[in-house]
Amino acid sequence: MELRTNTSQQTKDLGIKTAEKLKPGDVVAFYGDLGSGKTTFIQGVLEGLGIEQRVTSPTFVLIKMYVTPKRQTVFHVDLYRLESNQDIKSLGLVDILQDDNAITLIEWAEKVEDMLPQQVKRIELKKGVGDERIIDADVW
Ligand code: ADP
Ligand code: MG
Repeated sequence: MELRTNTSQQTKDLGIKTAEKLKPGDVVAFYGDLGSGKTTFIQGVLEGLGIEQRVTSPTFVLIKMYVTPKRQTVFHVDLYRLESNQDIKSLGLVDILQDDNAITLIEWAEKVEDMLPQQVKRIELKKGVGDERIIDADVW
């Protein structure tokens, strides 16, 4: 289903709502250009899951781990700066993707497309005119 937002808060709110649909073991793949709102959306998801600390994208560390008040582990992965297969191996992403207990949210998921589990959920964000964002997901 495709939805449109006009402010970053609306995108965040959509993320908050989406958090309700997620369960342990879920992998959510995010697609979209720089500035399309992937991190903003994920900030909402983490807020919805009860994470209170400030969420910034793991652009340089590539992976950040959070634990919710209900002791749910959540990985936020940002592969923007991922350069080689060697990097993927050293990241431990293989293990994370197979973790049945964690929720994993991946920006620039196309870089590891062939590693994604079959049941992956996909969310694609596109820039519209001005602040409009068009968000297409199979999650809602
Ligand atoms: P990405 O992670 O895809 O590179 P970010 O979430 O980091 O994108 O950045 C999105 C930028 O666009 C932010 O500066 C945000 O304030 C701005 N923005 C403007 N309108 C929207 C909107 N409707 N949804 C999300 N972000 C928006
Ligand atoms: Mg980002």
